[in-house]
Amino acid sequence: MLNRDALLFSPTREGVPSSDDNFYASDLIAAQEALEEEAREAVPYRFDACTYDLGYVKQPLFACRTCLNHRAVCAACSVACHGEHDLIELFNRRNFRCDCGTESMGAGSCCSISSRNDAPANLRNKYDANFEGRFCFCGRPYDPQTESDDMLQCLHCEDWCHAQCLGLPHSDDDSPAAPLRQDDFDQLICWRCVENDAEVRRIAERHAGVEGTGVILLDKGDKVLGKIDLPAEEASAEEAQSAGSSASGPAAATATDEASAAQEKPLKAATASTSEHPSSEPTVVAGDSSPAPLSSSGLPNSTKRHATVGSDDGSALKKAKVDHSDEASTTASAAKGTCSAPPSLDAAESPVRRFMREGLKPNVFLQEGWMSRWCRCSQCLPMFVNLPYLLEEEDVFEPPEDPDAHKSTFDLGMEHLLNRMPRDQALDSVRAFTTLSDRLKTFLRPHAEGGTTVTKEHIQAFFDAEQERRQQQHS
Ligand SMILES: [Zn+2]
Ligand SMILES: [Zn+2]
Ligand SMILES: [Zn+2]
Ligand SMILES: [Zn+2]
Ligand SMILES: [Zn+2]
Ligand SMILES: [Zn+2]
Repeated sequence: MLNRDALLFSPTREGVPSSDDNFYASDLIAAQEALEEEAREAVPYRFDACTYDLGYVKQPLFACRTCLNHRAVCAACSVACHGEHDLIELFNRRNFRCDCGTESMGAGSCCSISSRNDAPANLRNKYDANFEGRFCFCGRPYDPQTESDDMLQCLHCEDWCHAQCLGLPHSDDDSPAAPLRQDDFDQLICWRCVENDAEVRRIAERHAGVEGTGVILLDKGDKVLGKIDLPAEEASAEEAQSAGSSASGPAAATATDEASAAQEKPLKAATASTSEHPSSEPTVVAGDSSPAPLSSSGLPNSTKRHATVGSDDGSALKKAKVDHSDEASTTASAAKGTCSAPPSLDAAESPVRRFMREGLKPNVFLQEGWMSRWCRCSQCLPMFVNLPYLLEEEDVFEPPEDPDAHKSTFDLGMEHLLNRMPRDQALDSVRAFTTLSDRLKTFLRPHAEGGTTVTKEHIQAFFDAEQERRQQQHS
């Protein structure tokens, strides 16, 4: 975060003047640029194109508490149009069109990127409690400063649920007692979706908690129902990764620890959604040395790193292979003519029904490789017709990469920032930095043009005024 100290007392930054000297405005602008570069490294994508024209897509969203009605806008608008507003980061949500500059945001709303104003409301946008800052079944507000629990996103309703509310241990808790750990599954569907959505429930009743399905239910007696042994290949890759990430010490919340954890666990919530690849290479994943045993399912270990976002195609919604691989797997199952789903039970006998009868919460946890394990025979496939994200990875809009940014930090930044909750504050910092930086430049311009020196007192005055401005804003 840019502050007075960062600007004046940064001996390690090239081009940043020492605090004891008076200096020229040009020095300060150089210092600014050095800091901007750091900001770009933290969040290295461009904020100059609103996603409105893409229509309803899955994309990272930000709800604005300052503008009317808590409407949500795209990542670019969150910076360019609502940079100084009180925002709630919602990460990826599907079927959503940017509401910046639409009627639903209130009369007179205008998008500063596109100059769109008072456009018709996007009626297909679904707003829920998340957009007002409440999350999980418990409805707790999310505060990145104080939230200590992990949060995981439901694949169906896309709400973020506390690990604790799901009956899971914290990801740092490596006591072997926990019946189900966050590493033991890839995605989850929350009990509300199972109980309230008839289509989700039908699938859950058939598969969840049934031996051999990898569709897990967690019993109150600490029993795990439906877990399967994964092929050794996957298991060892997973172990290797956990070992690597815990090497720095489970208790230390260091930056490295955070970073490696970010590559591992949070992808649980977004594995399927972040693993888009151009259709020319549907299954090959950068950095994965082992042959992918499952063709189209998102293996989280292999889909985490993807530096395939070119500067051109990166700006548009990526169309992944949906059609052909869908057909391929469908015809493969159909050709065999056999159903590989567990036998259809009388619904009353299914573990999900038993859970509901006993007042247990039927949260469903999907083990690695889940997407390719559904039976797609002609009887089973129709069950998924309104739940395409159970069959295929979704297209996700990712904010285009800034061409000046470094690839390596891009990988890390995207995964870390967009898929993890709680997360660090880099995005907020960048947003604050951008606006502050603009004002500082305005402040410095007369000095730069006149060639006069800038003193510590000048800078102090600037930051004093900033502070006052901020206090007024919050009062
Ligand atoms: Zn937008
Ligand atoms: Zn706003
Ligand atoms: Zn906008
Ligand atoms: Zn909760
Ligand atoms: Zn849900
Ligand atoms: Zn079947």
